[in-house]
Amino acid sequence: MSKINMINPIVEMDGDEMTRIIWKQIKEELLCPYISLNTEYYDLGLPNRDRTDDNVTVEAALAVKKYGVGVKCATITPNLSRVKEYNLKKMYKSPNGTLRAILDGTVFRAPIQVNGIDALVPGWKKPITIARHAYGDIYRDVEMYIDRPGKAELVFTDEAGNEKRELINEFKKNGVVLGMHNLDDSIRSFARSCFNYALDRHEDIWFSSKDTISKLYDGRFRDIFEEVFTSEYSELFSEKGIAYFYTLIDDAVARVIRSNGGFIWACKNYDGDVMSDMTATAFGSLAMMTSVLVSPDGNYEYEAAHGTVTRHYYRYLKGEETSTNPTATIFAWSGALRKRGQLDGNAELVRFADRLEKAVIDTIEAGYMTGDLAAISTLENTVKLNTEAFIRKIADKL
Ligand code: NAP
Ligand code: MG
Repeated sequence: MSKINMINPIVEMDGDEMTRIIWKQIKEELLCPYISLNTEYYDLGLPNRDRTDDNVTVEAALAVKKYGVGVKCATITPNLSRVKEYNLKKMYKSPNGTLRAILDGTVFRAPIQVNGIDALVPGWKKPITIARHAYGDIYRDVEMYIDRPGKAELVFTDEAGNEKRELINEFKKNGVVLGMHNLDDSIRSFARSCFNYALDRHEDIWFSSKDTISKLYDGRFRDIFEEVFTSEYSELFSEKGIAYFYTLIDDAVARVIRSNGGFIWACKNYDGDVMSDMTATAFGSLAMMTSVLVSPDGNYEYEAAHGTVTRHYYRYLKGEETSTNPTATIFAWSGALRKRGQLDGNAELVRFADRLEKAVIDTIEAGYMTGDLAAISTLENTVKLNTEAFIRKIADKL
């Protein structure tokens, strides 16, 4: 059998721990036998980030900008204990934060639904996609501990030296303050990515924030969405018979739970972080959630929504059996391959991506699955497989 050729490369970003192990096996058993895999490889594993003073992450992000499509393995975001564990030179920033800061854009997270894994919310018959703004707010904030009485102020100095000031608080005792920002351009491109994605998916889009309390900051988000929608999208939406609707975040939460799914929920950065974990879990498993970062200039970076599954990795290192679910990581690859195929007019590659996803879903629906799914499956006679056996089973199906 001749292998499928790739015209342009995909930027491949390797990662850490259990997902690094899975990454290698996916390539060996599910991709390389069928595709002449053309990737530009960047090792974002923590030891190599340390070796390169984290330059490798920046280089990978620039490569995604150059080639338009990337696929990323989960990576460790170092904290104090990781600095000790890996003997790091410093506590590097989150690789995803670095990628998002360079690429800008919106992260779309959608559940992979299969028969036999029911959503915990009975009404959720169709997927709910979270569109998470990937720039600013607390992810690029500055914080200060106030250790004595005094006045905290927000000060803006323009280029001519003029100041605007707002009192934050008169501190009588110790406390904390934080400053954060966002940019009109970034919010506008967030709105456009969301509306484009809604047109693409043929689904309604909701946007929520807390503009009743944060009148200026969240109000700015609401106004820009409204402005972009009215001037650029309202006719296109009417033609497709889909809707845009804005509501308060608390109202949105209540409506989402009562809904049947089948829409996109646009969230600010922090809301999207939290709500995507909530919807992923409620749809069955964190390991069944896909994630793609879409930048305003049309670059795509695919990954799984979960982390490096550290607890399983420590068991793996001790030689114990693990049953880590590779589904979202496989879908990161299939998503990237499909997009590469679409951009390059490579129909064979698109077809392969479809078949790979179907092989995964068919395997699970035939009762073969990892422990996280076996624990919640409504199918009778499920077979719980370890990580390698599950991937081999998918390979058989493929
Ligand atoms: P995690 O890796 O997502 O795992 C949390 C728990 O969720 C696991 O212990 C496991 O539960 C379950 N789980 C997640 N993915 C699974 C899978 N594929 N198959 C089966 N079970 C799965 O989150 P974490 O433990 O909080 O973080 C670990 C590391 O990942 C951290 O260093 C963090 O910085 C990093 N992280 C990276 C990303 C990213 O690169 N996008 C995102 C989040 C976290 P049980 O143990 O109960 O089986
Ligand atoms: Mg999160």
